[in-house]
Amino acid sequence: MISLPDKHILSKSTFMRGSQCTKSLYLHKNQPELKDEISEQQEATFDRGTSVGELARKIFPGGIDASPESSYEYQKSVAVTQELINSGECIIYEAAFQFEGVLAAIDILVKEGNEWRAYEVKSTTRVKETHIQDAALQYYVITNAGILLSDISIVHLNNQYIRIGELDLRQLFIVESILEEVNDNQDFVADKILELKAVINMREEPIVEIGEHCHAPYSCDFEGHCWRHIPQPSVFDISRLRAKKQFDLYNQGIIRFEDITEDVPLNFNQRLQVSSHLNKTEYLDRSGIGEFLSGLSYPLYFLDFETFNPAIPLYDHNRPYQQIPFQYSIHHKENRDGELRHDEFLALPTSDPRLAFIERLITHTEGLGDILTYNQNFEKTRLKELARDFPEYAAALIDRISRINNDSTMHIP
Ligand code: SF4
Repeated sequence: MISLPDKHILSKSTFMRGSQCTKSLYLHKNQPELKDEISEQQEATFDRGTSVGELARKIFPGGIDASPESSYEYQKSVAVTQELINSGECIIYEAAFQFEGVLAAIDILVKEGNEWRAYEVKSTTRVKETHIQDAALQYYVITNAGILLSDISIVHLNNQYIRIGELDLRQLFIVESILEEVNDNQDFVADKILELKAVINMREEPIVEIGEHCHAPYSCDFEGHCWRHIPQPSVFDISRLRAKKQFDLYNQGIIRFEDITEDVPLNFNQRLQVSSHLNKTEYLDRSGIGEFLSGLSYPLYFLDFETFNPAIPLYDHNRPYQQIPFQYSIHHKENRDGELRHDEFLALPTSDPRLAFIERLITHTEGLGDILTYNQNFEKTRLKELARDFPEYAAALIDRISRINNDSTMHIP
């Protein structure tokens, strides 16, 4: 019969949550019903992390998985991990440990000779500050639970890796030791754990004003609760106004557009946004638009791409997170009075879409005429990448790039 530890008080994710904002931790533990709904994009990010993690295990093959069957059974994982260690297992996936009510699992734990090494897998292409904090907690819990770690590393994707043929996992992943940084953070972790345990037991939620911490390092899922007093529009809706400036204004009580006086430093476009909203007026740069339109050469093509960017390269000549065009829509007007025609392309989901994409696009834009895009930098960069990866089509693609009208992104002066 395995003896299980008591249910944990803090985990790695609640430690990170509390380090970002104590109120977020309190609400998560005491009023989780106030949370915002998870967006589809957030769910996709979780899925991406899982598939990268499973692939990274293959660098250390043959291990035993100590994952719990559900997130409610982590104490079972702690006991299973201990059993695996006692029985001489040298590679454990999702090894879980608990110390003084704090739970931490590590993606891969490996014993080489008499030394244990820990590896945490991240689907990013570099080590971030939050990864160090994350790993510092893991190191604290694992070593205090009795496993002396000789090293702890982040395993992340290598954005310079180009796939040719089968995935080369040793090239796809970079293993970066962060032992020194983790050691430097051990006192911080010990103090923070004490502070956060006290927060969880508070009678009322801690008073924390909204601030830049609501969005960094992670977007907080209690925004709907904490930001409900912010009207719309507010200084947080001003285009391209940096977060620090937005909160400077907010902290001075300048929140609504009506609160923004002439002496608030805004650039021309920002001022225009505010005054247009307040005065319910539209701004049309007629001469700028006229100048732009008179410079266009027919036939005109109106092009828009869709891409996806898988973390793990799926096809030859792909890097991690490379944008892969798979769909486009193109409207076409032969002359000023001509009929507006439409062509489109949508790849099959079963194979590399790029060759068919290129061939169809070249056919649909054959000849002369300007190509207008919603975001010319994005479309031009994708076409340059296609010319690089499919050099036999480079000349035709460079011709299409040269026809993307350089002024097709309109700017208000
Ligand atoms: S929304 Fe901001 S203030 Fe509210 S809990 Fe989250 S991080 Fe803290």
